Amino acid sequence: MSRKIENVLDVAKNQLCTGCGACAFADPSIQMIDVFDQGRRPAQNGPMDATLGMAVCPGASLSHDATDWPADTIPELAKGWGPVLELWEGFATDEELRFRASSGGAASGLALFCLEQRKMEGVLHTGAQKGQPYLNETVWSQSREDLLARTGSRYAPASPCEKLGTLENAQKPGVFIGKPCDVAATHKARKLRPALDQKLGLTIAIFCAGTPSTKGTFEMMEAMGCKDPAQALSVRYRGKGWPGMAEVVYQEGSQEKKSAQMTYADSWGNILQKRRQWRCYICLDHTGEFADLAVGDPWYRPIPKGEPGRSLIVVRSERGREILHEAIAKGYIQAKRVEPAKLPASQVGFQALRGKIWGRRLMLKAMAVPFPKYRNMPMFRFWWKDLSLSEKLRSIFGTLKRIFVKKLHKEVSLKPWTPPPARKPESQSHPVTSSSSKS
Ligand SMILES: Cc1cc2nc3c(=O)[nH]c(=O)nc-3n(C[C@H](O)[C@H](O)[C@H](O)COP(=O)(O)OP(=O)(O)OC[C@H]3O[C@@H](n4cnc5c(N)ncnc54)[C@H](O)[C@@H]3O)c2cc1C
Ligand code: SF4
Ligand code: SF4
Repeated sequence: MSRKIENVLDVAKNQLCTGCGACAFADPSIQMIDVFDQGRRPAQNGPMDATLGMAVCPGASLSHDATDWPADTIPELAKGWGPVLELWEGFATDEELRFRASSGGAASGLALFCLEQRKMEGVLHTGAQKGQPYLNETVWSQSREDLLARTGSRYAPASPCEKLGTLENAQKPGVFIGKPCDVAATHKARKLRPALDQKLGLTIAIFCAGTPSTKGTFEMMEAMGCKDPAQALSVRYRGKGWPGMAEVVYQEGSQEKKSAQMTYADSWGNILQKRRQWRCYICLDHTGEFADLAVGDPWYRPIPKGEPGRSLIVVRSERGREILHEAIAKGYIQAKRVEPAKLPASQVGFQALRGKIWGRRLMLKAMAVPFPKYRNMPMFRFWWKDLSLSEKLRSIFGTLKRIFVKKLHKEVSLKPWTPPPARKPESQSHPVTSSSSKS
């Protein structure tokens, strides 16, 4: 018999936690901690009401209610990609935002439109933590300058839902930006909390193939020459170009500051993706199916060096459609409609991954390893039609090895991790020298 998942601590101990932080918002007895080789995880801080956390938890269960979907949902995408009403390709017209952003800056450009034109109060999202820039913190941005400072995808644990109370208690509606699991949790939470529902002016999901642990960031920094994380002054993963370079700026004692870069292919391809939390290997929603708008990279063609960033923008609700159209009309976003096939062509492998997850589930169930409850999110049809025979077999039997390598056969201990002390601000400023770079 599979191990019981009765509360969010069980979710985390059985590696089903995405790290979204929604349980800490729903239940005051939960606080989020850092677990070095896992991610942000819930810990109990008082008497827990198990139902509160579980009701908003996307790690334990996710389900679609297709009866809620607008009538013009694109039928050929519905089974593998959730509700898609329109697909656009474009970018933020604010050149600085576009340059510093991960893709074309659509997430930040749309948020700016909501602040300036829709008079929304703020944007709840994620930025680098002050003093410990290899960690993330949840932030409330209220100006262009705030948004500019928080552009760029951060391939590290983030739990933006833990601060949903900021949105719920705001005077006016605001924007929520997060990964698909963060947005899915927000979608669950708004159904239970009418005050939050009223304040969610727009939800934007960024496409996501998986969140690496802090251990992954440390390995990336070390590969760039920053061996002591306490020396880091800033850490970026992408942006300042498309896809842009990972970059660490660091300083040993009072020596001059050094900056090192690494290509996205090296940082994500060789280091970070290997450190993804287990939940991401069995995630069915990589493209923000529960959001109003979802944004990702239009990687359906090779990107020539130096090309400015572009975003693929997926309209997933009527509210998303209305806001995107208005943001285009008011000149915040420049975009053109593209055909539905551009979504699977841009994110090659996500649809087949659904099939692989069906195969993984078969072995996990056989070995009594817990698996999320998914409803109305098809898997078997993609296992059957999109995978070769060897892929079909590997999806099932390859999982056996993973069960032991990733320690899925037992509950893991969630030891809180304390980061190195935050760096004191330097009194003397030094020029930055670019000391090393990787290709
Ligand atoms: C872990 C991870 C995996 C990714 N995998 C894919 C992928 O498979 N395919 C793909 O096309 N793109 C992926 N991306 C990149 C991202 O989805 C795109 O770059 C997206 O198009 C956003 O670009 P933008 O220029 O619109 O965003 P920007 O305007 O740069 O804004 C990015 C927004 O994302 C928020 N954010 C940054 N990091 C996090 C985080 N860790 N958690 C929650 N919110 C965050 C920021 O606060 C900011 O609001 C991934 C990003 C992350 C963080
Ligand atoms: S997935 Fe989110 S809600 Fe569920 S246990 Fe993890 S942090 Fe809590
Ligand atoms: S892959 Fe899925 S579960 Fe993992 S961080 Fe991304 S959206 Fe969340």
